[in-house]
Amino acid sequence: MGAVSAPVRFDAIVIGAGAAGLYAALHAGRRGRRVLVLEHNAEPGAKILISGGGRCNFTNVHGADPARYLCANPRFPRSALTRHGPDAFIALVQKHGIAFYEKDAGAALLRRRAGRAQNRAHAAG
Ligand SMILES: Cc1cc2nc3c(=O)[nH]c(=O)nc-3n(C[C@H](O)[C@H](O)[C@H](O)COP(=O)(O)OP(=O)(O)OC[C@H]3O[C@@H](n4cnc5c(N)ncnc54)[C@H](O)[C@@H]3O)c2cc1C
Repeated sequence: MGAVSAPVRFDAIVIGAGAAGLYAALHAGRRGRRVLVLEHNAEPGAKILISGGGRCNFTNVHGADPARYLCANPRFPRSALTRHGPDAFIALVQKHGIAFYEKDAGAALLRRRAGRAQNRAHAAG
């Protein structure tokens, strides 16, 4: 019989390595939490790769209107969008040296189409 390894403990388990799950895991990890991300597809972020025709319209520089979001707690969209505005995500994109451009009405898109290798590199970093 093989050796039994000690159980690994996690502070948080995220089900689904999509944009929301990966971003939540990133921030939990930055706060020192031990995070496990479970994904049933072969690789993470599959939808991110196809979003915006491969150029991922990752934010709008003018922000989003909280009134457009449905939520059981109507104050939550306002609070979340105020505390984490477009500048925060743009800073993350810039930190990783990812070039982007602004299109009509403030849409921010990647200059280069997202590739699988790029996706893996940024998921690791
Ligand atoms: C063609 C297209 C273009 C788009 N373009 C844009 C764009 O330019 N800009 C933009 O902001 N949005 C765009 N969107 C929308 C955007 O892609 C989605 O809003 C976003 O990806 C949703 O992220 P999510 O993490 O909520 O869900 P998902 O990306 O769907 O992630 C959920 C993940 O959970 C996994 N999962 C589900 N159930 C389980 C389970 N039981 N166990 C393990 N894993 C599980 C799934 O496999 C998936 O990887 C586009 C969507 C499409 C389809």
